[in-house]
Amino acid sequence: MTPDRLALYGGEPVRRDLLPYARQALTEDDIAAVVEVLRSEWLTTGPKVAEFEEAFASYVGAAHAVSFSSGTAALHGAVFAAGLEAGDEAVTTPLTFCATANCLLFQGATPVFADVEAATLNLDPDEVRRRLSSHTKAILPVDYAGHPADLDEVLALSERHGLVVIEDAAHALGARYRNRSIGSVSHMTVFSFHPVKHLTTGEGGMVTTDDDTFAHRMRMFRSHGIDIDFRQRESQNSWRYDMVALGHNFRLTDIGAALGHSQLHRLDANLARRSEIATRYTEAFLELPGVTCPRVKADVQPAWHLYPLRLDLARASCGREEIFRALKVEGVGVNVHYLPIHLHSYYRSRFGNRRGEYPIAEQAYEALISLPMFPAMADDDVQDVLDAVRKVTRFFMAEMPAVL
Ligand SMILES: *Cc1c(COP(=O)(O)O)cnc(C)c1O
Repeated sequence: MTPDRLALYGGEPVRRDLLPYARQALTEDDIAAVVEVLRSEWLTTGPKVAEFEEAFASYVGAAHAVSFSSGTAALHGAVFAAGLEAGDEAVTTPLTFCATANCLLFQGATPVFADVEAATLNLDPDEVRRRLSSHTKAILPVDYAGHPADLDEVLALSERHGLVVIEDAAHALGARYRNRSIGSVSHMTVFSFHPVKHLTTGEGGMVTTDDDTFAHRMRMFRSHGIDIDFRQRESQNSWRYDMVALGHNFRLTDIGAALGHSQLHRLDANLARRSEIATRYTEAFLELPGVTCPRVKADVQPAWHLYPLRLDLARASCGREEIFRALKVEGVGVNVHYLPIHLHSYYRSRFGNRRGEYPIAEQAYEALISLPMFPAMADDDVQDVLDAVRKVTRFFMAEMPAVL
């Protein structure tokens, strides 16, 4: 058996245990912070949530941070705060997690997709402009993989047409855009604290904004649409409350908030580690035949939630599925981000979408493969990814003939 034989065909795998594509990194301090809450009087939304929100707002440089029970709930709260309802439209990217568009449907609004630009796979502002109508009320850019979208161009469009910009920054906590911190640029910026993201509360999310009205509406919406919360009532010795809008119970717990707040102190170190890993990948793969590395624009600092490699399938002797499987059995937990939203069964049957409507997003999707990316990856783990990608691409990617 030659050492280069793929594990897919019975060869020796690069590693025995599967390296996941993402994983949380918790310390004893994080655990102690949670235990402290468990021993306290208060488990649900209370003092720890308030402290976490304050620290988070100050980290990103926004006036308000409003926490939610998930990133999905946070998106929903932002769409509510923006006042979107039946008959309204919002323009967003198809190359994202389905929650980015679902939040519009929950409020009766309609997502309108616009294609992405090839370099960063973020919303193409020219495509957004083409999709605006008299019903458009908002634009939802996504900072794909942690690379900020073209926010100034999107904000300029929003100003011209009186729209709200709700940025889905679930990938981009800690990223910088033209020397501004993500979370302080758009009208509302949404974060997720799912365990694969930069910071986790188990499940949780946050919206940052400088707008007092948006913040107030979100606080009300996350608590049934009630205009005053339990602790405020307690402090006023009053039982009175009034439900003024239809809301949900989308509150974060103090247990989750303590966990998130504790990790906030390590966020910069974790971002630096992600950036180191991305640099090692790019150095190794820039010249590797058959793959294209993610591109970074000059005026941004990505947060590297994902490292999406693009395969040049025109020169491969197989499809993406086989390369995906080959890497998995070498022990490298790859993933694909994302099947474009308009191609999910629900969206196809509800809106009659077809392949070909958003060619850049669709072509990118066919070729995308996300490599493991999380701060707790050891240098040896990174080396395993380099070895596995080289081994698998060498096998499947034909060398270009020197003379045609
Ligand atoms: C993770 C994610 C969400 C949803 O966040 P949850 O906390 O899992 O609800 C939304 N949008 C994008 C782009 C995401 O990656």
